[in-house]
Formats: sequence, C-alpha cells, structure tokens
Amino acid sequence: STAGAFLKEKRLKLTGTDAPLPLTAWSEIKSRWNGPSWLSAAPSTCGFATPTPIQCAATSILLDDRDILAGAPTGSGKTLAYLIPILFHLREHKKEGFRALIVAPSRELAVQIDGQLAKLAGRNEIRTCVLTKANQANLKDKEAAKKFDVLITTPLRLVHGLDAGEIDLTNVRHLVLDEADRLLEDGFLEQTDTILAACSHPSLRKALFSATLPSGVEEMAKSFQLDAIRVIAGVKDA
Ligand code: ADP
Ligand code: MG
Repeated sequence: STAGAFLKEKRLKLTGTDAPLPLTAWSEIKSRWNGPSWLSAAPSTCGFATPTPIQCAATSILLDDRDILAGAPTGSGKTLAYLIPILFHLREHKKEGFRALIVAPSRELAVQIDGQLAKLAGRNEIRTCVLTKANQANLKDKEAAKKFDVLITTPLRLVHGLDAGEIDLTNVRHLVLDEADRLLEDGFLEQTDTILAACSHPSLRKALFSATLPSGVEEMAKSFQLDAIRVIAGVKDA
C-alpha cells in the first residue's frame, strides 16, 4: 500500500491499534487536524521545513491525542515531535495552572526544550516554567502557578516539589517523559510512580520518548500505558 511504502521509505515501524497515518508535511496540522495557521507554519518559520521521519509518525499520533512510546536516534528531532502537539492541544494561555508536563534527565536539557518551545510558540502566548530550587516554593501560591501552562523539569527536582506540597499537577493533560532510557538510570522508576500519582487527571495522555527502547523502557511503558502506539524510527527493514 501507499502507507506501507511511506513507512518503509522513512524507515518507520508502527505498532498498536488504529495508528494514524504519519503526516508528510507540516501543512497537515491545519488541513488534517484543523490546527491554527501559525502552528502549521511554525516549524518552517523556525527553519525546519521538512518533518523528520519520527516527526511524521509521532506528531500525528500525538495530534490524535494518543499515548505513544517512541524510539528514535539522538538528533532525529524528537523534541519538535512532541512540542507541536503540546502547542496544538493547549492553544493559548489559560489561567488554569500546568496543563502539560515535560520531564527530562538534566536541567540543561530542560532549558533547551524551553528555548525550542519559545521559538515555536513565537508571539502566541504559552507560558512555560523550568523548575528550579529557587522558583519551586513560589509555585505553592495558586495564583502564581496559574501564570504558567507548561512545566519542564528533571524528575528529582519535581519529586522534591511534590514532596514539599508545592506543585499541583492535577490539571496536567499531557505528560512527556523525554530521554526515557536515560531517565531510567538514576532510580527514576520510584520517581515516576510519584510523578504519575500526582498527575491525577483522568484523561492524562502519556508520551515516552527515547533514543533506544531497551527492555526497561518497554516495561515502564507497559506499567502505565494501556493503549499506546509504539513507533520506532531508523529501523532497516520497516
Ligand atoms: P533528539 O531529541 O531526537 O535527539 P532534537 O529534537 O534535539 O533531537 O533535534 C536535533 C536537532 O535537529 C536540533 O538542532 C533541531 O533543531 C534539529 N531539527 C529538528 N527538527 C528538524 C527538522 N524537521 N529539520 C531539520 N532540523 C531539525
Ligand atoms: Mg531529545
């Protein structure tokens, strides 16, 4: 089939129920998902005119609001693949507190993700907070927390904030665990339990992104995802 040929050409392997067809151009954000024009244009405006294979598959799955387990090599553009759907689902600043949560293994990476999100959002107001020891306590104030839409953090910093009762994640609808393979290294499994328990919204969407999908990552995904679509990019015989 045409879809099969596309997957093979892009070296993508998709498994799961009702996986959406990968997008082939960013313009589909508008034509297929009815997204805003600015968002459809945002990747090209940032200099990324052509979606990478993982972006073709993963962005579609997330725009469809499905859970995902994604494996794609370092440098393949995973960040954009999940940031665009977050912008699509959040749309604009709302004074509701954190509606999306991105967990990354290092603070440097959290800052990079924040920068990428700001570039994509442009003048469209989506407000992000990179959690630090210094700003954590301020978030205890409900009104202060309502200034933000997206929280970006390392797992340990977040668990400290949750343990101190300073961070409210009950409104989070979109959770991304980035570099899940690296997250697994530092006792992350216990931290994940704490984070997932705090994300108590009944329609929480969970996305797991990783350079590799070792058994530990697959097990972690199985333990908290029910109907996820699994996508692997860069496979030889897709
Ligand atoms: P990963 O998380 O998979 O390691 P990144 O999201 O960090 O990859 O992206 C790697 C690099 O590729 C970044 O410099 C990013 O700006 C760039 N990039 C992302 N998407 C595209 C694209 N569609 N076309 C060209 N470059 C891209
Ligand atoms: Mg990455």
